[in-house]
Amino acid sequence: MDGQVRYSIVIPVYNEEAVIHETYRRLQTVMDTTGETYELLFVNDGSRDRTVEILRGFCSVDDNVKLIDFSRNFGHQVAITAGMDYACGEAVVVIDADLQDPPELILDMIAKWKEGFEVVYAKRIARKGETWFKKTTARMFYRVLRASTEIDIPVDTGDFRLIDRRVCEEMKRLPENNRFVRGLVSWVGFRQTAIEYVRDERLAGETKYPLKKMIKLCLDGITSFSYKPLKLAGYAGFLCSVAGFLYMMTVFYQKLFTDQVVPGWSSLMIIQLFFSGFTLIMLGAVGEYIGRIYDESKGRPLYIVRDFVTKQQQHQPLQSVPGRMEASNIRELASKRRPS
Ligand code: UDP
Ligand code: MG
Repeated sequence: MDGQVRYSIVIPVYNEEAVIHETYRRLQTVMDTTGETYELLFVNDGSRDRTVEILRGFCSVDDNVKLIDFSRNFGHQVAITAGMDYACGEAVVVIDADLQDPPELILDMIAKWKEGFEVVYAKRIARKGETWFKKTTARMFYRVLRASTEIDIPVDTGDFRLIDRRVCEEMKRLPENNRFVRGLVSWVGFRQTAIEYVRDERLAGETKYPLKKMIKLCLDGITSFSYKPLKLAGYAGFLCSVAGFLYMMTVFYQKLFTDQVVPGWSSLMIIQLFFSGFTLIMLGAVGEYIGRIYDESKGRPLYIVRDFVTKQQQHQPLQSVPGRMEASNIRELASKRRPS
């Protein structure tokens, strides 16, 4: 553990040039009021706008700012993971860059942490400025997820949370690739508590979570924490077989004891359509898991860092390409470059 920094704030950023100045200013103001040491760890997730230049600018004037610059867009959850790998604070806070999560809430989180809680997550009691579609689907998702898993994953909770150093160390030991960070934090355990807040509108710019990414996140959440979809396919398959068997009996009955003509084309078609549809759904469920097994079995590093930038060390690429398992080595390396 690096004793130098008390708080690490991890901020994943993807094309946020419109808000990043304000985010930096607000975070700086809030963190300065703590009177303790902190680092603002921006993770640039392959932005294509001017975000990275702006962040480098912050690094060059502010000792507290650090930048992890990804070689391409690896996704929000991976960016958070990288931030946790690099963070050296005694408490680590993850916050979105678009100021939907009010930075001022960090102070309340810190207060709870000082009371002895190891995870303080922020629960949205309302969401402003988001579409009806997003709110409804998100609401449904958290409830389905909760119903389908044994792990106590709190509803309406995003990745805005504070975790203690010990929780962070445990998170670093989880090697999976398709990460649903908020679920993993619940899985890790420790003393957890919530604070409630109203989620603001995005300050500027538009969401970096299009439907496609949202679906990926939902599927990661469900498949990482539940086998229910697979079981469901099994149950449904069983029910269909029973129904099929009963229908077969009636067909036999009609054939043997009545003089009705052969059952028509329509019933054949219905059965055909129903079962092929069902088979495809089942294959889909299996495919979701197989795809993930495939991902995990490849054992690729989760992300690639092009640069780790601090005020003292600009533009210095890391000597080796880090894999997740060597995260602690990287931090060692990084801390060696930090002034003593
Ligand atoms: N983000 C990221 N990589 C991505 C997508 C998003 O690092 O591929 C960041 C983004 O810059 C923001 C946070 O993740 O800081 C949450 O994204 P966003 O606000 O667009 O999601 P929403 O709040 O709309 O769900
Ligand atoms: Mg947002």
